[in-house]
Amino acid sequence: MTESGNNWEIIVLGGGPAGLTAALYGSRAGHSVLVLEPAMYGGQIATTDWLENFPGIPEGITGPEYSEKVEQQARKFGAELMNASLEEVELTGAEKKIVTSEGEFKASKVIIASGTEPRKLGVEGEDLLQGRGISYCATCDAAFFRDKEVAVVGGGDSAVEEALFLTRFARAVYLIHRRDRLRAVQNLQDKLLTHPQVKVFWNTVVQEVQGEKKVEGLTLMQKDGSRDLPVNGVFVSIGREPNTVFLGNQVELNDNKFIITDEEMRTSTPGVFAAGDVREKLLRQVVTAASDGAIAAYVASRELQDL
Ligand code: NAP
Repeated sequence: MTESGNNWEIIVLGGGPAGLTAALYGSRAGHSVLVLEPAMYGGQIATTDWLENFPGIPEGITGPEYSEKVEQQARKFGAELMNASLEEVELTGAEKKIVTSEGEFKASKVIIASGTEPRKLGVEGEDLLQGRGISYCATCDAAFFRDKEVAVVGGGDSAVEEALFLTRFARAVYLIHRRDRLRAVQNLQDKLLTHPQVKVFWNTVVQEVQGEKKVEGLTLMQKDGSRDLPVNGVFVSIGREPNTVFLGNQVELNDNKFIITDEEMRTSTPGVFAAGDVREKLLRQVVTAASDGAIAAYVASRELQDL
């Protein structure tokens, strides 16, 4: 068991940039901090190919390398990090209780930094063929599609980045977008729209993923009717949904299930903070996640000192 046994001053739920920054700030301020992360430290950025807009790193850095550095930095100041899945949380009392696959932990303050997960298309064939040609992460799975033809669905920064990354492996990349304009930032759009291996299908909606044992193609709906597009792989990149189901109604959520906070990262529940992508906010980036994490830990620390 940990140095502090089951009782911690701050427990952070999630080990992405927001959670790890909260851990770094909390432990550097002298508090006992436990981070509980069900999967990979770094979260979404750990499966991102390239981070080029984080201030102070003009040369850019790979997502896994960045994740490792923040993890090291949190550990360096004394935070404890544990791989554990959440089973139940009790956040409304003064003492917060977190039940996980690795045991039960208590804390005075909890910082929720549980991030988001990929949104699904919700069409026929998607669930059946997940892992058999359907993927939600190009950096994880692109190498399986060397010299093949793949489709990317979506029109935001993620879809465009995934499509560009896939051009390193696949022979042809088809970007399928439901509108006639991309949502992605201009410099990504410019790279995509001039790339010789990429073809964009505008005003096109995926109706079905074809195949029984593996992906064989897509049924697409366009203005003038439906058509088939033979592909070996489909990368769905249509946004993300917050990991907040485990909270029940213990913390106020908005209509899209993101956590509502004030500017100091306080949720509606005393002693409970939220940071990063799981929070209702304008811009979901590593830099804003880190900022949220720092503020949440700073305010939690101040509250702990007032106790
Ligand atoms: P996003 O910006 O919400 O874009 C989602 C895209 O998927 C939109 O183009 C949307 O179409 C489309 N879409 C949504 N639901 C759909 C459905 N059911 N069927 C078909 N298409 C659907 O999501 P994201 O690209 O994952 O980005 C999330 C956040 O992370 C954004 O704030 C983004 O800026 C940020 N991000 C930044 C970077 C970077 O800075 N390098 C990289 C990745 C992500 P419409 O356009 O028609 O709404």
